[in-house]
Amino acid sequence: MDFGRARQILIESISPGIKDKRTLSAMSRVPRERFVPIELQSSAYDDRPLGIAFSQTISQPYMVALMTEAMELAGREKVLEIGTGSGYQAAILAELAGFVYSVERIPGLAGEARRLLAELGYNNVQVELAGDQLGCQKYAPYEAILVAAGAPAVPRTLIDQLAEGGRLVIPVGSRFEQELLRVTKGKTGNRTEKLGGCRFVPLIGRDAWQE
Ligand code: SAH
Repeated sequence: MDFGRARQILIESISPGIKDKRTLSAMSRVPRERFVPIELQSSAYDDRPLGIAFSQTISQPYMVALMTEAMELAGREKVLEIGTGSGYQAAILAELAGFVYSVERIPGLAGEARRLLAELGYNNVQVELAGDQLGCQKYAPYEAILVAAGAPAVPRTLIDQLAEGGRLVIPVGSRFEQELLRVTKGKTGNRTEKLGGCRFVPLIGRDAWQE
């Protein structure tokens, strides 16, 4: 299978909905086939989520593009991803930001993503094991935070980890369907925009869902 060709076809198919050229160009550089289970490699460029280990998913490419675009990255930002999963979204962010911290609660996924990202040469990504508190206070504040799992509400702790002017891109809703929100932190208050419906696996932990 010609993965490069399949990747270009996928990017053409999602490009009508994505205005940010940098996002599309990052997606044309990251080999999604490396982030999916070997038996699903032939589906790596279908525009849909795929199952990965530990009953988790690698997000649909269009959703990855939409969320990445919503982060509004110029190239030098320190960003945080919550829910490393396969590491694919982290690789896309690493193409577009200065440094990416990505936290994952399942040690087996964190370890595998860390190994693969290093093998692919991403030296501006650090995968951390999730602690008690959501996100990663240790390296805060972040210019942008992407949450790759669905939350019941916007977690206060993540707003606290944002820099002023920073963006939090997060699916919020029930355990089964959510709305993608972008919350921009302002001096006096936050602005929330709705970016459309989506379906993510649940965000687990304090300030989120029970396992
Ligand atoms: N971004 C991933 C998709 C992740 S699926 C990719 O590109 O492949 C969501 C992930 O969030 C799962 O791996 C799940 O284990 C993780 N997760 C759920 N709750 C979490 C939490 N509180 N902190 C960190 N990771 C979490």
